[in-house]
Amino acid sequence: MLSLLLFLAGLIVGSFLNICIDRIPLKQSLIRPRSYCMACKEPLPVQDILPVISFLLLRRRCRFCAALLSWRYIGVELLTGCLFIWCYFILGVTLACSKALILTSFLICITFIDLRHQLILDKILVWFAALAVISNLFEPVLSCGDMVSAAVAGGGIFLVIAVITRGGMGGGDIKFVAALGLWLGFKLTMLTVFLAFLLGGLGGLLLIIAGLKKRKDFIPFGPFIAASAWISLLYGEQLIIWYLYIPQ
Ligand SMILES: [Zn+2]
Repeated sequence: MLSLLLFLAGLIVGSFLNICIDRIPLKQSLIRPRSYCMACKEPLPVQDILPVISFLLLRRRCRFCAALLSWRYIGVELLTGCLFIWCYFILGVTLACSKALILTSFLICITFIDLRHQLILDKILVWFAALAVISNLFEPVLSCGDMVSAAVAGGGIFLVIAVITRGGMGGGDIKFVAALGLWLGFKLTMLTVFLAFLLGGLGGLLLIIAGLKKRKDFIPFGPFIAASAWISLLYGEQLIIWYLYIPQ
């Protein structure tokens, strides 16, 4: 029952994240005007903004101008719902779980804005970093030194790579990893950096093999960092133990 409620909460949060993804890069308010069609600007009635249901009932189209909506809308809603339940299954009803839900929401928002605009916005990262500090006040899991060293080391590694590759890594990625350090602490941040390069390398290779990208095309790195951070948060301790005790 709780998992169903959490899934529904995830759909609603996902619906709000869609508004964030649409509006924050355009510097628009998240509250006003209320939801409208991005194509014809017509305000949407309540029955048209229900997560998932409206998308399916209206067959992906705007009621007024029939513009085709992106699969991203229903995708973000379902993804948020599924990841919320996943966090709950792994962490149960704990403060750590509520922290994971906040982190998950930010990671989804950052990922989809980066995919669309190749940008990780300072405006979001400031809130992201601030909430890491505030949530650690409620349940002090990380020491202050752990958070700061994680932020400096994680951001530092990306800064060095950015310098070596002459801008192959964006400033947004550097700040994103530094902020993640405040959420994850040193150990899990290092794991995140390692996984991000592993996933980024594999992902880039698959995109090139599939013909979706060329060798010189820009591939946003934020989504790989976000996925790695999420895996580290939920499975990091097990992964580290597994790696340390792997038969040599
Ligand atoms: Zn429309």
